[in-house]
Amino acid sequence: MPKAIFIVCDGMGDLPDPKFGGKTPLQAAKKPNMDKLAAEGICGLLHSVGGGRVPGSDTSHLAIFGYPPDRYYTGRGTFEALGAGLKLEHGDVAFRCNFATVGKGMKLIDRRAGRISSSEAKELAKLFDGMVIGGVKVIFKATVEHRAALVLRGKGLSWKVSDADPHDAVGVPVLTVRPLDGSPEARKTADVLNELVAKSHGLLSSHPINKERAKKGEPQANILLPRGAGVFEKVPSLKERFGIRAACVAGGALYKGVARYAGMDVLEVKGATGNANTDVMAKGKAALAALKAGYDYVFIHVKATDNFGHDGKFREKAKMIEKIDLMVGLLLKGAPKDAYIAITADHTTSCMKMRHSHEPTPFALRGPGIRVDGVKKYDELECAKGGLGHIAGIDVMPMFADLLGKAHTYGS
Ligand SMILES: [Zn+2]
Repeated sequence: MPKAIFIVCDGMGDLPDPKFGGKTPLQAAKKPNMDKLAAEGICGLLHSVGGGRVPGSDTSHLAIFGYPPDRYYTGRGTFEALGAGLKLEHGDVAFRCNFATVGKGMKLIDRRAGRISSSEAKELAKLFDGMVIGGVKVIFKATVEHRAALVLRGKGLSWKVSDADPHDAVGVPVLTVRPLDGSPEARKTADVLNELVAKSHGLLSSHPINKERAKKGEPQANILLPRGAGVFEKVPSLKERFGIRAACVAGGALYKGVARYAGMDVLEVKGATGNANTDVMAKGKAALAALKAGYDYVFIHVKATDNFGHDGKFREKAKMIEKIDLMVGLLLKGAPKDAYIAITADHTTSCMKMRHSHEPTPFALRGPGIRVDGVKKYDELECAKGGLGHIAGIDVMPMFADLLGKAHTYGS
């Protein structure tokens, strides 16, 4: 049976930049392996969440895994919690959460509590994990540095609540969580959350770790700031829907979370960090090993291209593409002859605009029986001339299902 490797480089699509000879980072980068993939395959442009819309990383991944976001997207928090390794139950409401520093009047001083160490945060997390507020169970896990995942479990909860996190508004008091609709469930959830935030200030302020930090002149992690509510809904897996045994190789929690939501096995790869220092070769090797171990499909995610786009760092983004290209080379050489290999980006993150934008992303697919087109280079402009034309995100997984011999004829 054929197999597939699907590489998604976050936010790798970009716009031509006059400061760099009117090129995009993909056009500026030396990436012989991506170009080989394009030359030996079929190319096109991917509209991950549909034409003209600006994709988020969560909605775009849902779509390319075959889960239309208009039907399935219920907030980011659940994916972050799944990515952090928490087991969720149907109806759980989950949040991303920061340890932060507030001063007098609960005014925000440092949203990241001086990037408190992961080990300190793990210790502080014990204050909250297992707490019960108004009959609602709190599940809490510290992840990396100041970041954490928070889950509320109980009857009558809703994800239609606002954030306590004032985001980058330093000097502003911590926000009161508000219900976003008129339901009693949203009211109750907002009340529980406000109580948790208020309690967190007292509990954290008197914790020895913070006393120690204060002595050393470091910002105290003296409040929890939840944001990005989401509700967990158990959905049929890729195995159930398409008969595909899928694995995920990723560093970032969000991507692991969306993959787990779709029923993929998340492989732990040493050196996969979700940052520019990620070990792309270790990721490539893990993907090849997963195919050998019997997976039909392996999703590989690389995050840093998006980070450089958000920071407006064109040169660094192009460098990151060159680093990823080495992994593509490893995959082209090492994958079984009958394997399909595809590469794309989940959205465009323009270095000039320093944000996501609506433009579709280059898509290239190589494998047995592919209608090879005349495209020789993998970039935004060349792939526009390819045989795949313009494809929608939700069409990607059904396409893989057919390539892998798992699709059913529509009709007879
Ligand atoms: Zn993204």
